[in-house]
Amino acid sequence: MHDAVVIGGGPAGSRAAQRLAEKGRSVLVLERKTDLGNKCCTGIIGRECADTFNIEDKVILRKVNSASLFSPSGNRLYVQREEIQACILDRGAFDIAMAERAQRAGAEYRFDSRVNSVTIEPDHAAVAVSSRGKEEQITAKCVVAACGFAPGLLRRLGLGTFRDYTYGAQAEVTAPGLDEVEVYFGDMAPDFFAWLAPLTPSLARVGLLARKKPGDYLKKWLEHLKSEGKIVSADVNIHYGAIPLKPPTHTYSERMIAVGDAAGQVKPTSGGGIYYGLLCADIAADVLHQALTEDDLSAKRLALYEEAWRRKLGKEIRTGYRARKLIERLSNKQIDRLFKIAKSIGIEEAISKASGVSFDWHGRTVKQLIKYRILNIAGRP
Ligand SMILES: Cc1cc2nc3c(=O)[nH]c(=O)nc-3n(C[C@H](O)[C@H](O)[C@H](O)COP(=O)(O)OP(=O)(O)OC[C@H]3O[C@@H](n4cnc5c(N)ncnc54)[C@H](O)[C@@H]3O)c2cc1C
Repeated sequence: MHDAVVIGGGPAGSRAAQRLAEKGRSVLVLERKTDLGNKCCTGIIGRECADTFNIEDKVILRKVNSASLFSPSGNRLYVQREEIQACILDRGAFDIAMAERAQRAGAEYRFDSRVNSVTIEPDHAAVAVSSRGKEEQITAKCVVAACGFAPGLLRRLGLGTFRDYTYGAQAEVTAPGLDEVEVYFGDMAPDFFAWLAPLTPSLARVGLLARKKPGDYLKKWLEHLKSEGKIVSADVNIHYGAIPLKPPTHTYSERMIAVGDAAGQVKPTSGGGIYYGLLCADIAADVLHQALTEDDLSAKRLALYEEAWRRKLGKEIRTGYRARKLIERLSNKQIDRLFKIAKSIGIEEAISKASGVSFDWHGRTVKQLIKYRILNIAGRP
């Protein structure tokens, strides 16, 4: 019997597997895909994430210290810092590198292996899996659900359901001349935003978030970008994904813990989930290792996991969610006003110099916008 089965070989699953294996636990990662990569994701992480998790340069396509933000009517805010603020990952290579780390630590991977359900028995968890065309049952003392946004499976596992989420669409395009990240607000992505992220001197990722029909919005925006001469062709493959915006009510049960997108550990402001997922994977591995040592994998014991990750991220996610809901209520006109106010109070200059500005922790910035009533003023009809 394995100490732990990890469902999903994305970054959160591989990190949890690595940390458990490093603590001497026997770990099996079950991944439904035949290989890693091909995840619909722009792969932008903050410098803090890259430093904390020692992300190697070989999986970083580009380092970024500036971005342009455009309001619906085209007003631009330019934010720049002297030091590198973020990195754009080769997302496929990153997932593979994280899995290789886990494998080097001793974790075993099985691809083409879809987990269908988990039955909790008094002394183990029985994992039902369709593996390489065969139905099998694998036993483990505990299970880490790192299956990403998979509401059906999470429901079957008895974990919480997502209380709010959105969809994303993305394509890789030829965009010669694009030199920095660009973020757009307006009708191309109602309630959310769209982005262009340069990967190489000619390639870029173009994407947007939308509550419905993200593909339709993206196709329209690609045509617009082509007509503006920003991209060479709008005839490109579009990939889709979903992003939880609010964690489920609980992220643990007897012998089971959820991490990463499966636990809604995502920044609600931007939809970025890589960093929070990795941070929580470490917490999950610590709690499970202790629980295995004490031979107590009860829900009561594993509740410590939820307490710990919410202590670290709960406030940040709650504040971010509050900001997200406020922003979603703003009309294009109000967003334009917000840009004007931000410019007039010298936000560009302030961001370039302020200490404590962080790509990963938005709570403080949001609180200041609320404190100085900037969001409220912009939100007036
Ligand atoms: C358009 C878009 C852009 C994004 N851009 C960014 C960004 O720039 N920066 C950022 O930080 N985040 C971004 N994200 C979010 C980011 O991709 C996720 O937060 C991150 O991938 C979550 O990692 P994870 O390991 O929790 O889940 P995932 O990466 O989704 O991995 C889950 C794994 O589980 C496997 N799996 C699922 N079900 C089963 C099953 N039943 N059995 C076995 N295996 C299973 C899947 O195949 C997958 O490999 C973006 C998302 C979208 C949609």
